[in-house]
Amino acid sequence: MKARVYKSTGSWYQLKNEAGQTFNGRAKGVFKIEGITSTNPIAVGDWVEVEMENELEKSVTITAIHDRENYIARTSPHKKVQHHIVASNLDQALIFATLKEPRTSQGFIDRFLCTAEAYHIPAIIVFNKADIYRDKELDKYAELEEMYLAIGYKVFLTSVKERQGLDELKLLLKNKTTLISGHSGVGKSTFINALFPEMALRTQEVSGWSGKGMHTTTFAEMFDLPGGGQIIDTPGIRELGLVGISRQELSHYFPEMRELLNNCQFNNCLHMNEPGCAVKEAVQDGRIHLDRYVSYCTILDSIEEKNY
Ligand code: GDP
Ligand code: ZN
Repeated sequence: MKARVYKSTGSWYQLKNEAGQTFNGRAKGVFKIEGITSTNPIAVGDWVEVEMENELEKSVTITAIHDRENYIARTSPHKKVQHHIVASNLDQALIFATLKEPRTSQGFIDRFLCTAEAYHIPAIIVFNKADIYRDKELDKYAELEEMYLAIGYKVFLTSVKERQGLDELKLLLKNKTTLISGHSGVGKSTFINALFPEMALRTQEVSGWSGKGMHTTTFAEMFDLPGGGQIIDTPGIRELGLVGISRQELSHYFPEMRELLNNCQFNNCLHMNEPGCAVKEAVQDGRIHLDRYVSYCTILDSIEEKNY
């Protein structure tokens, strides 16, 4: 029987089959996914094969894992070379940001976008708390919206509190598996509750035991949306890492740079101090936004060459 992983604690898994029945499962044997060294062999979002162990207790054994369409990982805090797969089989990733209370930095957004690019997962940016934005924040939003739209990202302005912009987002989530990410305090749980009141109890339950306090977990959890589709919440995961990205390939994950790379004089150009750099030329004449280039340089700086 085929089932999908909805929750993982590392030793047992909550699963659901295509008929909507739920099971508790344990993994049997060692699962090796080719090309990845990971701390968790089975991740939320995975499709797995299960065998019934105890029908009454609805317990199953996971015997195999189906190929992942994609996945998103972060560096294991224990061993830098290993990956922790956060979630898999994603259709899109949504980053929740705010320009006030708290203010999300552009650097944080760009790191997220870069990570999503590296894993080939379409990213959507949501700026929430529009109701408290004044001219300063609204101007900033207009600038960011223009910048991100120009390089192919969907951008939304919402006020979950005043239900502004929610219908469009709801449509976007329908029948898709969407990872929701962002700093704490930006309104993710309020958003989920506002969009899908049917889920309110579930999310409260989750933040009750995993969001705060002593039992902070860094495992993702998936929920079915009432109208079809799933969202994956990532409580405790503050930032998705740029796992496995080398300095050399970083510019491939900036869409506005990607198309220019063949025009640089050196094919190993890092777009810093090299002569004949098409990226720097584009920054100079405004085709690449200076703030995006600054994010590129900051991320480049943070990648340790010795990892690769
Ligand atoms: P999370 O940590 O991302 O899940 O954030 P929460 O959903 O817990 O929200 C953090 C705080 O922001 C709560 O006090 C919410 O009531 C508030 N909040 C959420 N959305 C909005 C909004 O659109 N406008 C305003 N003014 N406050 C909001
Ligand atoms: Zn260059």
